[in-house]
Amino acid sequence: MKLANRILYGLIVGIIIGLLLHTVRETAFVKNLVTYFISPVGEAFIRAIRMLVVPLVLASLVLGTASLGDLRKVGRIGGKIMSFYLVTTAIAIILGITLTVIFQPGLHADVPREGEFVGRAAPPIMTTILEMIPINPFDALARGAMLQIIVFAVLVGVGIAAVGDPAKPLLNVFEGLNGVMLRLTTLVMQVAPYGVAALIARTVIQVGPAILVSLAMFIFVVYLGLIIHLVVVYGGIAKFFGGLSLIEMLKRCSPAMLVAFSTASSAATLPVTLHCGEKNLGIKKEIGAFTLPLGATVNMDGTALYQGVSVVFLAQLLGVDLTFNQMLTVVVSATLASIGTAGVPGAGMIMLAMVLESVGMPVTAIGIIMGIDRIVDMGRTAMNVTGDLACTLAVARSEKAVDMPAKIPTAL
Ligand code: ASP
Repeated sequence: MKLANRILYGLIVGIIIGLLLHTVRETAFVKNLVTYFISPVGEAFIRAIRMLVVPLVLASLVLGTASLGDLRKVGRIGGKIMSFYLVTTAIAIILGITLTVIFQPGLHADVPREGEFVGRAAPPIMTTILEMIPINPFDALARGAMLQIIVFAVLVGVGIAAVGDPAKPLLNVFEGLNGVMLRLTTLVMQVAPYGVAALIARTVIQVGPAILVSLAMFIFVVYLGLIIHLVVVYGGIAKFFGGLSLIEMLKRCSPAMLVAFSTASSAATLPVTLHCGEKNLGIKKEIGAFTLPLGATVNMDGTALYQGVSVVFLAQLLGVDLTFNQMLTVVVSATLASIGTAGVPGAGMIMLAMVLESVGMPVTAIGIIMGIDRIVDMGRTAMNVTGDLACTLAVARSEKAVDMPAKIPTAL
């Protein structure tokens, strides 16, 4: 059976168990079952995922920036495409946060706070900025201080690109580390169905059916945000920079969007994305071949939007009041997290850990939305890929490198 289906069944089984046991949650039997079986299974799964976050963020960000190091060579185009990518990503996060504040999907249920978590007051903004620079990067890695790790990783990537050949062995090390961590992610995901079942069962046992309403609202808000972003931001880019109506652009991008939706992986969709860019949108190869793989690696508006929604949603569930400064921190850290997210299923959820930590929220909260991740992953991945194509079209047109066929070629 496909992993996605197994996770879905895990979710359903977990919900059923949760609903059955919710009414008898005070009995000694259920309490013991939760303490000695259900909780540890869920906890073990989350710990295994957390184990991968620090090395994965380090390796993928170093690689991402090292490949961006070529920016000088491709200076103008690189600068333009990165501006488009970053601005659209930041808009996506702000949109996600705003919608979640308006719709308050997390206020339908009360999740008991984890014992260890005490809401932290946000430090003054200057301190936050200064503290982004690690005094000792190894200490930052050991403590899992995400912002410091990101700053260090970006600088190492820039350094590797600047040094060139002599730094090649180091680059290889990070490539190896990245590959191994991604493989381990796949491995850990094999036990995801059990982890997901245990996590959702525990939550439903403790909170009751109300949590399901909240989760449904969460999915609704994510998809609403994705659609608004598509219509307003990509529609606007298509119209004003691409000389194309939104509908026409969607028709031409639809093969990539559908593959992205069904695979939940922008990396796996890349061949189709390249095809749509070149054949359907008529973007010259030299531009698309540079900006689309770059976009598949660093530009993830859908993921960023989802991360914005998730942080505010989980804060609402846990009864944490996020200050304005903390929301700004979320915009910055989710931008960076989405850049560091690998284009594979579920990666955005793993990187969410880093966004939560940036505002002092418990990473274990991810367990609450883990079971439904695939449902939102499909939508956000489709949007990630559409964003790459829309921005590439805009930049290519400004370079006069678009020769759009009047009719969409039929063959894929
Ligand atoms: N699945 C997404 C992608 O490949 C990444 C994510 O999990 O958000 O684009």
